[in-house]
Amino acid sequence: MSEMDKKTNLTGLSHAELVEFIEQFGEPAYRARQIFGALHHRRLRSFDEISELPKALRERLNERATASTLTIESRYISEDGTRRFLMKTHDNLPVETVFIPEERRDTICFSSQSGCPLQCTFCLTAQLGLLRSLTPGEIVEQIIIALNDAYGVGEKPLRGTNLVGMGAGEPFLNFDSLMKALGIMADPQGLFIVPHRVTVSTAGIVPRVQELATIPQRPNLAISLGAPTNEMRDELMPINKKWPLEELLGACKEFEQTLKAGERFTFEYVMLDGVNDSDEQARQLANLLNRHDLHARVNLIPHNPADPLPYQPSPAERVEQFKSILESKGVRTFVRRPRGRDIFAACGQLAARRETNKIQASSQLIGA
Ligand code: SAH
Repeated sequence: MSEMDKKTNLTGLSHAELVEFIEQFGEPAYRARQIFGALHHRRLRSFDEISELPKALRERLNERATASTLTIESRYISEDGTRRFLMKTHDNLPVETVFIPEERRDTICFSSQSGCPLQCTFCLTAQLGLLRSLTPGEIVEQIIIALNDAYGVGEKPLRGTNLVGMGAGEPFLNFDSLMKALGIMADPQGLFIVPHRVTVSTAGIVPRVQELATIPQRPNLAISLGAPTNEMRDELMPINKKWPLEELLGACKEFEQTLKAGERFTFEYVMLDGVNDSDEQARQLANLLNRHDLHARVNLIPHNPADPLPYQPSPAERVEQFKSILESKGVRTFVRRPRGRDIFAACGQLAARRETNKIQASSQLIGA
């Protein structure tokens, strides 16, 4: 066990848990409020920066706890302004986070696991295998690091922040840590990023889709479909052998029935040239969704190519034709524009790559 394993990462505790921790520490509860605000609202990365705490308390905290565990290893900036962060956990595993500035909001794409156990053939992350699931603190820290890098430590972001759980890993195989991290980030005394602004994407872990249907405070949901038939989906996304389309779409219907005003539910469909993008497959996809009486929108994602992957993106005309067939059958469809492809920051390209446009992280970003 490393030194870090024994220390509690206070960034991974809810406000209530922090109060408990601080009381056990023999300190008054208001210290917990100060610390929570410092870590999550002011986005400080070490106890030594929390100047309102007495020096003796900071020293005691340093012995038993930590304010941060992730460090930036490198940072890449795309022509389109997208930033990719390659971070490292205390036990040296890669974590990737992508910051995507848009006109009206910023979107931060975070990872739920280091690597991924699913074997989707079109995704580069799959080649890492699962290294391990991330802790709640490691999930929250990714957002803190990205915001501090974009705006400066503790500075108020210029736009609203949306989060998408579409980085490395399968969020629904790390459900408890994910939900806990989202709860911490929703706290008005902290980052105050409410579930409304969060979308979690799953390859189709059916029991967790059903569970999410029962949870009142929840993120928006995206389901990665990738294929219109079991035969094709078994091949592209082997998780389909465990939870085939009928079961997955049945759970989706259950979920859809619980949707409240303002909640969003979408399907993702990666477009692979000559593989899953034919007219026939568009009809099959529309019929499948209609048969299950699902009304969620379909986002078409042109494949982001990467060297070891055996696919090419569908040409733009093919994507448009696919879209018009879906729409002719009443399926709302949207084509997603790739961001940060040049720095391997786009969907499916996260595999801890270390080349291109490297910009060293400054010591200030790494923190104490
Ligand atoms: N494991 C989760 C979240 C990570 S993948 C999931 O499967 O949903 C996020 C999205 O990127 C998914 O919709 C996935 O199908 C898509 N994707 C994966 N590899 C891709 C690639 N090379 N090009 C385009 N999209 C890809």
